[in-house]
Amino acid sequence: MDIKKEILRLKEERNAIIVAHLYQDGEIQDIADMVGDSFELSRYCAATDKDVIVFCGVHFMAESAKILSPQKTVLLPALDAGCPMANMANAEDLKKLKAKYPEAAVVCYVNTTAAVKAECDICCTSSIAVKVVRSLPNKQILFLPDRNLGQYIAKQVPEKEFIFWPGFCPTHNALTTMHVEEARTAYPNAVLAIHPEAPPEVVDMADFVGSTKQIIDFCTQSDKQEFIIGTEEGILHQLKLKNPEKKFYMLKYRFICPNMKKTTMELLYESLRDMKHEITLDEETIRKASLSLERMLKVK
Ligand code: SF4
Repeated sequence: MDIKKEILRLKEERNAIIVAHLYQDGEIQDIADMVGDSFELSRYCAATDKDVIVFCGVHFMAESAKILSPQKTVLLPALDAGCPMANMANAEDLKKLKAKYPEAAVVCYVNTTAAVKAECDICCTSSIAVKVVRSLPNKQILFLPDRNLGQYIAKQVPEKEFIFWPGFCPTHNALTTMHVEEARTAYPNAVLAIHPEAPPEVVDMADFVGSTKQIIDFCTQSDKQEFIIGTEEGILHQLKLKNPEKKFYMLKYRFICPNMKKTTMELLYESLRDMKHEITLDEETIRKASLSLERMLKVK
C-alpha cells in the first residue's frame, strides 16, 4: 500500500484537511495542507469549510481547533500526544488564583487545556503575546502557564505587573547558557535565534527571539548565511526548504519534543480511515473557551 496516496485519497473522501505544527516530522509536514505555528493553524482551522480537521500536533492544539469550529469533526492521530506544559495548569487552581487577584486580566498561552481556557480572559500565542498583553487595560496580568514566556513578555511591557504560573516546557527549559556558549564557539559567524519558552538567561543571549513562524521568517529574510536554532528541531524542515543555501545548526543536540514526534504516517492514515481520535468537548467549555480564543484572533 502506498500510504501517502491512501492518506490523500481518504482526505478527499472525508472532505478533510490535514494541518501540521512546525515541530512535526518532515513527512507529516509535507503531506499537510497547512504547516504553521499555533496561531497560524488556529486561524486556518477557524476559516476552513471542510467537514473534518486532522490535527497533527498535540492535544491542546486539536482542542483549540474544536473550540473554534465546534460543528466540525476534529481528529488527533496520536491520542497520547499531550503537552506537559499544558498539563501543568488546571482550572481549579486557576479559579483560586483568580480569587486572590480579582483585578488581574487572566492571559493564557494557547498551550493550555480547554478547561483552563474557559477560565481565561484572553489567549495568546508566543507570536502575539506582547501585543495581547499591551491590548489589555488591566495593570495586573495573571499569565499562565509558561513562566519563561511570561518573563519575556514582562520585559517588553514593564508598565504592567505580572503574576506568573510556575509552568514550563520541558523541551525548551532544558536549554542552558552553556549550550549558547558552546554553540557560539563552534559557529562564530552564526546568528542565534531562540524561542521565548527558553529560560530568561538563555533568551537574553539571543540575537533574535520569536515564535517558530517568526524564527523562520527572520532566517529567510536575513542576509546572513548561518543560524543557530534554539527551538524544536522539526522547524529545520521548513527552514531548509525555504533556505536551501543557508546553514542551520541546532543549539542543543536532540532538541526534540517527544509528544510532537508521536504522530506517524501510519497513525495519520488510521485516523482518516477510522475517524479517530475525535476531540469532544462539552458545550459550556466550548462557549467559554471560545471567547478567550476569539479575543486573541481579533488582536492585530
Ligand atoms: S515543545 Fe514544549 S510546549 Fe510545545 S508541545 Fe512540546 S512540551 Fe508542549
